[in-house]
Amino acid sequence: MKTIGLIGGMSWVSTAIYYRLINEAVNERLGGYHSAQIALWSVDFAEIERMQVAGDWGGAGERLADAARRLERAGADVILITANTMHKVADAVGAAVRIPFIHIADATASEIKRKSCRRPLLLATAYTMEQEFYVGRLRQRHDIDVRVPNARDRAVVHRVIFEELVHDDVRPKSRAAFMDIVTRELQAGADGVIFGCTEICLLLSQDDFDVPCFDTTAIHAQAAVDFSLAS
Ligand code: GLU
Repeated sequence: MKTIGLIGGMSWVSTAIYYRLINEAVNERLGGYHSAQIALWSVDFAEIERMQVAGDWGGAGERLADAARRLERAGADVILITANTMHKVADAVGAAVRIPFIHIADATASEIKRKSCRRPLLLATAYTMEQEFYVGRLRQRHDIDVRVPNARDRAVVHRVIFEELVHDDVRPKSRAAFMDIVTRELQAGADGVIFGCTEICLLLSQDDFDVPCFDTTAIHAQAAVDFSLAS
């Protein structure tokens, strides 16, 4: 079994979900007392959040590149950033190490194509919904025409992520607001939903919708397990 290196803490709430999902998937595959070999470097999210707001992506990239190098030295065979937003600095992280890096948008794109989805709705932080690093990658590398909510709805999604979900605060009212946004976008032509923030699975699930949902947390965790157990 290869060792999975997780850059976590963005937020710790979703890192805990990754940890559980990866261990469950390894145990499901290998049985018995088997669990995953994981190296975790968990950052202080306050520092990362401050750099996001300041637009200090260079500083954030250095911070996560340092985390990746620490994980490589600790014996990790692969690196994952356990958040969508911080894939803004994926290139800096990938370039800092010799071991492979699993990009969350690429893993998600494989699933979107497998389900033959053409115009999925992206729910994520404003950084992820509005900047090119994520939507552009899905479009250019994977030919997936991602839809994003209108400006007012994007602000709602962003606020709920930062004021509630990263604090493990799950509110029925916010769930209703997300359901309303998704319902309108499905009526307008979306044919799937990307949970493009690793905490959104706290609020929504596939059971809520008839169209395919792409939970980036579960997809990314599964990609790590597939890598770890590949012969
Ligand atoms: N976990 C989040 C994501 O997947 C949001 C927190 C952050 O901005 O890093 O984007």
